[in-house]
Amino acid sequence: MSLLFVHSHRRFRILALLLLALSSLNAVAQTLAEPAQNTYIEGAVLWQQTSGERRALSYQAFLLARLMLDRDLRMNRRDRKPRAVIVDVDETILDNSRYEGMLLQQRVNYNQKTWTEWCNRADATAVPGAVEFLRYAASRGVQVFYITNRNEAQKQGTATNLKKLGFPNVNDQTLLVQTDLKNSTKEPRRQSVSAKFRIVLLMGDDLNDFSDVFENSRTIDSRMAAADRYQEEFGKRFIMLPNPMYGNWENAIYGYNFKLTEAEKAEKRRSLLKGY
Ligand SMILES: [Mg+2]
Repeated sequence: MSLLFVHSHRRFRILALLLLALSSLNAVAQTLAEPAQNTYIEGAVLWQQTSGERRALSYQAFLLARLMLDRDLRMNRRDRKPRAVIVDVDETILDNSRYEGMLLQQRVNYNQKTWTEWCNRADATAVPGAVEFLRYAASRGVQVFYITNRNEAQKQGTATNLKKLGFPNVNDQTLLVQTDLKNSTKEPRRQSVSAKFRIVLLMGDDLNDFSDVFENSRTIDSRMAAADRYQEEFGKRFIMLPNPMYGNWENAIYGYNFKLTEAEKAEKRRSLLKGY
């Protein structure tokens, strides 16, 4: 009798566990299936893909970079330290707006799996003016460094993509990917370049591409204040490319909380929007 009771009790527990597992599986599936509320970014992707204004801003940034580089070559002739230019990759010299377009069409959020697939297709186009400027820099004896938060799994595809488009000096010494997956700071990589080279300029689409001052500013107010504090550098040593599609500006909106639901993110956006 008691044996039978234990037996059925155990069966009940197994059944309960099974139901629990099924319901949590169901919850996971529902979360996965929940469509991303990302249509608010549609205008940004279209702007990136269709506007002459975006092309003009890119040309403007790379022309300014060339002027600043020429000025440095003219003015600092006695400085024997070799010169370097540091560029970010995504949305600075490679255009990934088609990946963003795919996220919109499929109503899904960015994830590492689809992003790695995109990187390894090596199919991104060049940001207008980028190849020409970097080839010019290389032709003047300036070392180009590509400092990107793409990772090791994406490195080969990235190198292939950059070489295919004609970017100069792409190799293991110059393509510096993110190796510590828990820490996205670019500061140690910038430091390793500045140990041997004089960094004439840095180019990026995100404030975090320029200095750890920005990397350590993780609120909207502190990022605005840091941009104001360094305003003399923009257009001179820091040269900015436009990217309204994504970036740390957006992480700041969500308070760097990557666990917010789609509804919570939408609410954060609504609460920050200013009108009159
Ligand atoms: Mg970028």
